[in-house]
Amino acid sequence: MSAAAKTIRMVIMGAPGSGKGTLTSRLLKKLPQIHSLSTGDILRQEIAKGSAIGTTAKSFISRGDLLPDEFMARLVENELQAQKWLDGKTSFLLDGFPRTVAQAEELVPVLKPHGADINFVVELSVPPEVILERIDNRWVHSSGRVYNLQYNPPKVPFKDDLTGEPLFKRPDDNPETFKVRLDKYFAELKPIRDYYEKQGVYHVVRGETSDIIFPKLYALVEKQLAP
Ligand code: ATP
Ligand code: MG
Repeated sequence: MSAAAKTIRMVIMGAPGSGKGTLTSRLLKKLPQIHSLSTGDILRQEIAKGSAIGTTAKSFISRGDLLPDEFMARLVENELQAQKWLDGKTSFLLDGFPRTVAQAEELVPVLKPHGADINFVVELSVPPEVILERIDNRWVHSSGRVYNLQYNPPKVPFKDDLTGEPLFKRPDDNPETFKVRLDKYFAELKPIRDYYEKQGVYHVVRGETSDIIFPKLYALVEKQLAP
């Protein structure tokens, strides 16, 4: 009898280390109808494969630089098409894209022919000093699963919980590169916030930890999905 839940096409934004990956996986566990795509994870997988995309990506990522907007837009378009999420009925979440207004603008003509648009954007706002400490403790698995040695440690030290494979430090998580990434994030934030605020789809969730942020994020998303 209840009306069908709405479709959400969401973007999760936040400084590097703000918890985008962690919160996305927690959200998807509770809302498995939402599909997710992380550009950082895709690029790292391409690097691991040694593909042409990976080779291009590697030089940018190791400097903390952003890849060209057009390159990223085509990558995301291909992925959305390959996954068949472009039917206007599929709910999805983009983690790490768009990161610039130019990327946000590139996304419009990709979605529009399918009667779709980005209808929910959430910024994770975490104090920079908290983030810097967190990066020191971050270890990752090649799948993109993220651990924090302090708050979210693996069951076996330095091993992935699901596969038992070794965890590693992201090469771009060293203090110098991290600083560059953080600065770039804050340089892009205001323009992209203005862009999505004008469309009335922008939300901010604040907190020092993912445990504090998650209930707020979940409540917002549930409200958006409610018929
Ligand atoms: P975190 O994973 O901690 O949230 P992040 O947001 O900096 O950090 P990723 O999203 O994993 O990291 O991206 C890693 C790197 O991949 C970026 O520093 C950048 O070089 C490249 N990259 C990912 N997405 C984009 C994008 N939309 N535009 C340009 N470059 C990107
Ligand atoms: Mg990430």
